Amino acid sequence: MPSFAAIFARKPISASAKANDTKVREHRCRALVIGSGFGGSIAAYRLSQKGIDTVVLERGRRWVTSKENDVFASTRHLDGRANWLNGTDLFTYAVPPTGERPKEPLDKYVGLVEHLHEDGMYVLAPAAVGGGSLVYNSCLVQPSEENFYACFPREVDYAQMNSDFYPEVVRMMGAGPIPDDVLQSKHYHGARLMNQLAVAAGVPIHRINTASDWNVIRDEIYGRRRPCAIEGDIWYGANSGYKNSLDKNYLKHAEDSGYVKVQPLCNVLEIAEKGGKYHVTYARIDEHGNELAREKYISDCLFMGAGSMGTTKLLVKAKHKGGLPNLDDSIGQMWGNNGDTFGHFSIGSPAGSHEGGPAHLVATDWKDNPMGPQTCIAYPDHTLPQDAIQYLGMSIPSEKGYFDYDEASDKVTLHWANANTEQTRERMRLTLKKFAQSLPDPERAKQAVASIEVGGGDATAHPCGGVTMGYAADHFGRVKGYKGLYVTDAAFIPLGTAACNPALTTAAFAERSMQEILSTDLA
Ligand SMILES: Cc1cc2nc3c(=O)[nH]c(=O)nc-3n(C[C@H](O)[C@H](O)[C@H](O)COP(=O)(O)OP(=O)(O)OC[C@H]3O[C@@H](n4cnc5c(N)ncnc54)[C@H](O)[C@@H]3O)c2cc1C
Repeated sequence: MPSFAAIFARKPISASAKANDTKVREHRCRALVIGSGFGGSIAAYRLSQKGIDTVVLERGRRWVTSKENDVFASTRHLDGRANWLNGTDLFTYAVPPTGERPKEPLDKYVGLVEHLHEDGMYVLAPAAVGGGSLVYNSCLVQPSEENFYACFPREVDYAQMNSDFYPEVVRMMGAGPIPDDVLQSKHYHGARLMNQLAVAAGVPIHRINTASDWNVIRDEIYGRRRPCAIEGDIWYGANSGYKNSLDKNYLKHAEDSGYVKVQPLCNVLEIAEKGGKYHVTYARIDEHGNELAREKYISDCLFMGAGSMGTTKLLVKAKHKGGLPNLDDSIGQMWGNNGDTFGHFSIGSPAGSHEGGPAHLVATDWKDNPMGPQTCIAYPDHTLPQDAIQYLGMSIPSEKGYFDYDEASDKVTLHWANANTEQTRERMRLTLKKFAQSLPDPERAKQAVASIEVGGGDATAHPCGGVTMGYAADHFGRVKGYKGLYVTDAAFIPLGTAACNPALTTAAFAERSMQEILSTDLA
């Protein structure tokens, strides 16, 4: 079995494949998709059903789990496979306050998560064939109608989202709630505790549809597969294969159709429209990020699926550099952090922080928090003390970020004022206080309340917006100013997804847009 060090061993770039080769190879296709996350995979699959030849350019690599080897890094043993071409940044929860940081920088590798330090905001952005579906906690949470309309325009029919598009995504991704026997196992003691606290606090709590194969997790419990979910290994891919990631459903069906070709390790650099065609220039890279060659696709139509950060940066740059000058002036506006926070408190006895994942219970404090709807999802975090329960918080954000292009550095940057950070944290604190106060022993409850710590508001794994409905795009993802240019990913979502994690709503909107586009524009 090759060691990971061997996989990392650097190979010299052959002279014939150097980046500064002057000749740019050109290819043609009918439809081009940039990025293979939720929006990109759904676009590709629906295009394939119409028999439209489609190419997907994805900067990340393809990951296939195996029975023999650990394909991914884990939170307890990090290496370059965790990070996108960055040896030093780490998820905070991969760095125990008392434990060990990796002593050396990680190998520079095309790992799963990009760390973006923008102006006032720290963003995690996925990078892989399948995008965020390999990285995420696999929670597919649907907003209520009331919260939905606090975020989305009335032109979108919630009833249709609820009856058609949300259930279709859940079905396609094979998502379902945690089964009773798994929840009752020793690995999910913390979840049962969270449930008790929420019930005692009078906060509604539900089992989430999780895009996980619970039979694989059962196999982990009974020792038939390597432990992964049950050890709380939820962020950097799943070595046991428990995640129903997009490469196993939407994208697989698209490729199996014969109409879709996915090209990993192709990093798109520039987009321009010429004579009604889209010219997309990209770098073919190796697994250490070295450029091997520069190539170009020329396509009739272009679907943006590079995520909120990727799509927005590419389009803002194209507007300013002249490739797509007619884009609406609102391009790069209406960006939000989904109201994300995180927080924890200690209960004085073993809690959920060292237990199993993925997250599978959602507490919806949507009516009774005086500062607005607050959602809380508990998840394992082995870097905290054993008696802590760690929660991710989401709410309806009010603050808006924007992107702009700087000619001197040739870079697009997100700007965020951080004006509402304390308010966002306070809303989360109010809900956590309800849980902590519900501990049956009054002394323990007092200590738990005193131990509440809330952070975030200035960091997010849920970037949304930049090319949003009703602003730079119409309500079906047609980007204003250009025929045949579409946005299908989280860039389309203004600010956030109504106090829920964004993948399900992003995907449901992609389904809705593709249905409209394929039945009208590409009929
Ligand atoms: C740690 C973590 C945990 C999360 N947990 C959850 C969760 O439990 N539930 C939930 O709903 N959401 C979760 N999310 C958020 C979720 O992953 C995103 O909302 C979702 O993936 C966004 O989908 P998307 O279609 O916008 O694109 P993404 O899934 O972000 O995919 C975009 C793709 O485009 C590619 N790309 C970007 N730029 C380029 C370029 N220039 N050229 C070529 N390719 C490019 C990227 O490599 C990536 O594969 C989590 C995110 C993270 C980081």
